[in-house]
Amino acid sequence: MFTGAGLLLTTLLSAATGAWFDEYKNGWIWQKPALVTPGDAPGAAPSDAIVLFGGKDMSAFEGGESWKVEDGVATVQGSSVNSKQKFGSCQLHVEFATPEKVSGSGQGRGNSGIYFMGQYEVQVLDSYENETYYDGQCGSIYKQTPPIVNVSKKPGEWQSYDIIFDAPEFEADGKMKKPAYLTVLHNGVLIHNHFELTGMTAYEHAPKYVPHEAKLPIHIQNHGNPVRYRNIWVRENVAAPVPVKPEEKAADKPAEKSAR
Ligand code: MG
Repeated sequence: MFTGAGLLLTTLLSAATGAWFDEYKNGWIWQKPALVTPGDAPGAAPSDAIVLFGGKDMSAFEGGESWKVEDGVATVQGSSVNSKQKFGSCQLHVEFATPEKVSGSGQGRGNSGIYFMGQYEVQVLDSYENETYYDGQCGSIYKQTPPIVNVSKKPGEWQSYDIIFDAPEFEADGKMKKPAYLTVLHNGVLIHNHFELTGMTAYEHAPKYVPHEAKLPIHIQNHGNPVRYRNIWVRENVAAPVPVKPEEKAADKPAEKSAR
């Protein structure tokens, strides 16, 4: 209300007095944002994505040959898999379906998982009317936090994760520079909002950070249940744009001249 009234007053004053206000300009120089063509269907990869599984084969993964691929769907069997390409901070889209035929309970029902850098797990589980410890249910960051809400669909139905992973950083001497963060949408609904991880997710010990490389494989878990996957893609262009400030540009000029 106040903003609307304020804007109206400003407009009336300007019109009455003929006085106009100078536009605020920060003076920063921005790079033109790259053009990206979005996918032509829900879940389809945008033009700058790295497709890890598009329906044909699991050759983008070490161990992928042990999974069954049929009708554009990859089913967990054999081993867990690790992407051949290594990733740090990224956006990941993945669709999954826990087995339609329900068997087992708790952690034994539709268990799999998406591990960033091979060690930070977003849990995949059948959490439709299936009780387990909350920081281990579907969408949990395993043993660190439950999801904000449970958006699980019925067994056998396709579900999606859209995940923004912000990789941890370490100093050269191994000291923590910044922790990892996860933002996760499950079936389009926010279940983690920039959650700060306290370290790797593990079953048998407390979370802890162990210094590692800046990029590592994405791991998808075989927990003994035939969970199905499709449309797995990753985008690496996730860093905020950085402007050039005019004073930095001016400072560059003498150096440019003397170089000639
Ligand atoms: Mg799991």
